[in-house]
Amino acid sequence: KESLVKTKEAFVEKVTQVVTGRKPIDEELFDELEEALIQADVGVTTSLKLVETLRKKAKENKLEEAHELRGLLEEEITRMLEEGEHTLNIQKGRINVILIVGVNGVGKTTSIGKLSHKLKQDGYKVLVAAGDTFRAAAIDQLEVWCQRAGVDIIHQKEGSDPAAVVYDGIQAARSRKADVLVIDTAGRLQNKTNLMEELRKIRRVVEREIPDGPHEVLLVLDATTGQNALSQARIFGEVVQVSGVILTKLDGTAKGGVILGIQNEYKFPVKFIGVGEKMEDLRDFEPQAFAQALFG
Ligand code: GDP
Repeated sequence: KESLVKTKEAFVEKVTQVVTGRKPIDEELFDELEEALIQADVGVTTSLKLVETLRKKAKENKLEEAHELRGLLEEEITRMLEEGEHTLNIQKGRINVILIVGVNGVGKTTSIGKLSHKLKQDGYKVLVAAGDTFRAAAIDQLEVWCQRAGVDIIHQKEGSDPAAVVYDGIQAARSRKADVLVIDTAGRLQNKTNLMEELRKIRRVVEREIPDGPHEVLLVLDATTGQNALSQARIFGEVVQVSGVILTKLDGTAKGGVILGIQNEYKFPVKFIGVGEKMEDLRDFEPQAFAQALFG
């Protein structure tokens, strides 16, 4: 919770104070609330939706004073955060394939290391496939994280075919009896068609080898980028079927409100949050705890 301090401060400063005190509930107040939510990085669409719901409920319940909206707002936000499946779709007795997608720099490599570590702690045998073959540095970095996490990595040299790496990864997962195969992918948004082709090809290989896979497609987003994270969610949503989000760098940012936009606008359930640079700094996302932290 301490990692959410800045987001919480921003939320209290901007949003909570609007629904405090004995000001009358009128259009001016709703405008103020909308503005506050947008400023807290919740996103325009989601802010409008929240205000609309509150307007309706305030009328239904004949509420009169600002403070009476606070509980309602917390309730609505909790409901929004709870939507969707937040736990990882992992089962014993099969090779669980987790595809990791996202733009470079958002914390993809770090998150793969942390996630592999976490799964290993939970008793799963994890294998990582270095499907981002575009940059040699990406492969090297991933190798470092895998070593730290104590999991094996399958990689080829820079420039090789990502789908071939994935194929190798699946074969290795079979022969080594791995429970989970985590696949890194390149995150170059400059060319959406290429990205789409590459991810499609990887998907085809997975589907051919593991008919019910991939079991998760996790999009890594950087909370510090605020509304940029939302536009990345939109673009990746058009390219692949995203099953969940890893939201990184929530520590030290005031822009955690972006999580509401991700959940509400794109219906991508947040599954993990990154709260630091160390191996242990990946947490399961707990919607209620998050909402409670926002309202203090
Ligand atoms: P990639 O290019 O997407 O693979 O990004 P990296 O995994 O290399 O991460 C980019 C930078 O973000 C590195 O300096 C990481 O230490 C940092 N980083 C990643 N996740 C977090 C996080 O949850 N919190 C903080 N504070 N830093 C993070």
